[in-house]
Amino acid sequence: MSKIQAIRGTRDLLPEEVGLWQQVETTASAVLARAAYREIRPPIFEQTELFARGIGEATDVVGKEMYTFEDRGGRSITLRPEITAGLVRAFIENKLFAEGGVQRLWHMGPAFRYERPQAGRQRQFHQLDVEILGSRDPRADVEVIAIATDILQALGLKSLTLDLNSVGSGDDRQRYREALVDYLSAHKADLDVDSQDRLTRNPLRILDSKDPQTQAVIQAAPSLLDYLSDDSQRHFDQVQQQLSDLGIAFSINPRLVRGLDYYTHTAFEIQSADLGAQATVCGGGRYDGLVAQLGGPDTPAIGFAIGLERLTILLQQLQPSPAATLDFYLVSRGEKAEPAATLLAQKLRHGSARVEVDLSGSAFGKQFKRADRSGAAACLILGDAEAAAGTVQLKWLSSGEQIELAQVDLLGQLSQLLQAAQTPEAAG
Ligand code: ATP
Ligand code: MG
Repeated sequence: MSKIQAIRGTRDLLPEEVGLWQQVETTASAVLARAAYREIRPPIFEQTELFARGIGEATDVVGKEMYTFEDRGGRSITLRPEITAGLVRAFIENKLFAEGGVQRLWHMGPAFRYERPQAGRQRQFHQLDVEILGSRDPRADVEVIAIATDILQALGLKSLTLDLNSVGSGDDRQRYREALVDYLSAHKADLDVDSQDRLTRNPLRILDSKDPQTQAVIQAAPSLLDYLSDDSQRHFDQVQQQLSDLGIAFSINPRLVRGLDYYTHTAFEIQSADLGAQATVCGGGRYDGLVAQLGGPDTPAIGFAIGLERLTILLQQLQPSPAATLDFYLVSRGEKAEPAATLLAQKLRHGSARVEVDLSGSAFGKQFKRADRSGAAACLILGDAEAAAGTVQLKWLSSGEQIELAQVDLLGQLSQLLQAAQTPEAAG
């Protein structure tokens, strides 16, 4: 029979990698909690309509990358290609706006896009998504950017760069779009096929084409920044000023437009030189029109998403995953010893010890070898003689030192022993 394999573009996160993901989650949630962000957990599939309306029909994500299917009730369902749209749907549906003022929300979980899998690009990937809803103030833009950089810094990442742009208001973009289309139409023959196609559908996206010849045409294209209204320019100036006040370095990239339709004003990306072609770890921006577009009250908002696969690729370059540690590896053999070991393990765990029980029933020698490989600080040994006497052998695996003690004493001195187990000399 042929083997069943994981779907192309998906990956199993094996136990030795999960420690790193947990570290990301712990660090991020601590940074977010300190700034009063609250976690929310929306479902991973939604009506297709939500993404079509929210992200925009003309985007690559909606046009080419969505996992869309009909369910048994004939509804069109889509596995979320990003988190923001679902989060905004939840904000509207649960009337979170009724709580008044500003809502700060975050969510971490999978997203799905039908893309060509390669390093840093999967079909099921994961994002940490962070949003502020209800503030038009440039301070909100600066707050989320500062949080993104804080999370990445708290994880120990260096050599990241922040690109910043303003895509202006809807009106600004409309005027710019006309100027851009005029310019690009005159150079249509020099554009790659994809970009020619975008000229009518989504011309701004041509700005971040990776095609070298198209790039050359774009170099001389009109700049979005020349089309900002006074209000948009003021907002952008304030964001820049405050980022500088916080000591957050950035460079202005007038060609940064981001893939989704709903952005207004601030757009930003954080890149790493250590990631190769898929260099963007974090993308975000302001989306003042989205909540209203999805049927909610007029609510300005800004947020970002960090791609967790790319983030963990970077973290792996820094350090190996933290190893799982164990206090005791419990070996036993014999008719009386084995059930006694089960009982002892249970009592130790109730005393907060981390205990792995060897279930093999094999010779003590083989069990000892596994104890050595287990990463435990100490091996506990129970034979029938110990079981009958109510004792146990404790062997510190780093020094080889072995003592016999009564099981009641082991349990009675457990907190001192656990402390010893956690000191590096004992734990080896
Ligand atoms: P890219 O330019 O890499 O295609 P994007 O503009 O499509 O990114 P966003 O929609 O802004 O990406 O998503 C935010 C982040 O999610 C990205 O910066 C990236 O880190 C991550 N991401 C997006 N698509 C994928 C994918 N297919 N696999 C892994 N990570 C992804
Ligand atoms: Mg993409």
